[in-house]
Amino acid sequence: MKIFNTLSRRKEEFIPLEAGKVRMYVCGPTVYDFIHIGNTRPMIFFDSVRRFLEYKGYEVNYVSNFTDVDDKIIKRALADGVEASVISERFTEECKKDMEGMRVRPATTHPKATEEIDGMLEMIQVLIDKGFAYEVNGTVYYRVKRFKRYGELSGKNLDDLISGNRTLLVTGEDEKENPGDFVLWKPKKEGEPYWESPWGQGRPGWHIECSVMSKKYLGEQIDIHGGGEDLIFPHHENEIAQSEAVSEKPFARYWMHNAFLNIDNKKMSKSLGNSLKVRDIANNYDLKVLRFFMLSAHYRSPLNYSGELMEAAKNGLERIENGLVRLRDEAGKCPAGKATEQGQEALQGFRRRFEVAMEDDFNTADAISVLFELIKYANTLKPEETVREDWDILRQTALELGDILGIGEPKAELLDSAIEALITERQEARKAKNYARADEIRKELAEQGILLEDTKDGVKWKKA
Ligand code: AMP
Ligand code: ZN
Repeated sequence: MKIFNTLSRRKEEFIPLEAGKVRMYVCGPTVYDFIHIGNTRPMIFFDSVRRFLEYKGYEVNYVSNFTDVDDKIIKRALADGVEASVISERFTEECKKDMEGMRVRPATTHPKATEEIDGMLEMIQVLIDKGFAYEVNGTVYYRVKRFKRYGELSGKNLDDLISGNRTLLVTGEDEKENPGDFVLWKPKKEGEPYWESPWGQGRPGWHIECSVMSKKYLGEQIDIHGGGEDLIFPHHENEIAQSEAVSEKPFARYWMHNAFLNIDNKKMSKSLGNSLKVRDIANNYDLKVLRFFMLSAHYRSPLNYSGELMEAAKNGLERIENGLVRLRDEAGKCPAGKATEQGQEALQGFRRRFEVAMEDDFNTADAISVLFELIKYANTLKPEETVREDWDILRQTALELGDILGIGEPKAELLDSAIEALITERQEARKAKNYARADEIRKELAEQGILLEDTKDGVKWKKA
């Protein structure tokens, strides 16, 4: 299996630190609001990475944090007149709901920064003791010049960074030894949450959080560290500087970064007013559609969001789901019989090609194409002409591969096309004055949580 490693800028064979086990850390969201659709790209992609590694038989220890102390959280708390923890707790829970909707499985551990302060105090002290950090007036800075490999991940040259930063110095930063130095601990300001520390009351910098949480839950060395490409510098560069200064060992073996999600070919940003929340999407789509859309492109390619592309994703996903439903519902029509060589050979080909795609730096776009082909092949089979065991193995294979991408049989839930077919049947029943059947259909849909509304423009439906 090959993974593109940001550190070496090439695809490398994946060899875990410990045979059969994978330790993986992905930087999670800052919980100051409902998450936006950009945040979901790493969540969804790395969830499929984890699922594929598990499919390959690895035991995966997956850690992804919630950053629950941060300037944006404090700002929102002040604006709303509540404690910062009220904001962070609320939006951590809301984020978990969105994750569930997107079929993102909970990580092995979801640590919260505010519950790991002791570990941060400890690591900062070690950095000071080893000469990698220094304190000035209650602020602790990391001394970047002391860490020889600083800039290796992002390919930045420390001297360039320093001269570039010199012009960017803001008030208070003149106390740094070097403009490139970054904050490990900052003194509290009035009205902000704070913790006691040997350097006075204050709170941790963002970068130290991930070094500490990763070390605590996964150990000093990990296999995969992931996040969006905006995190390469300075966040991940700084994580390496902190973790490796302490452990004196390479921190993460494979650094993986997803490219950005844009909206209508523009960068998503608050100032452009085009940032879309997952909740906005949930008004119009089941969030599994958003997941399918995200996986339809390779994670290192920029991805553009648009209404049309979401419609295409919805249709594509529905095609796969319809195929899975047919495999389930028609199984009973197959004559009993043992699996045939011919049936199994065809199937193995699909499985192998799916694996080849995923083993090539997790090419989910190609994996989806293989799944489409598998469903297309399944749709050509007539149950009456297929022996039962061939059919069952085909169904299991489709489910197993689909599950890696988070696709499954839509359980009791009706597909949109099925709902619309029932509505048409109801209209026809009414025209034929068969009111009993029309009422029966309305009841049937209501049981599935589908509400009908007769308007002058025809029948509208919505999910309750
Ligand atoms: P944040 O809450 O900004 O720290 O972001 C949480 C995660 O979402 C990080 O891994 C970011 O790199 C990622 N992320 C933020 N915006 C986008 C975007 N537009 N496209 C892809 N990933 C993003
Ligand atoms: Zn991080």
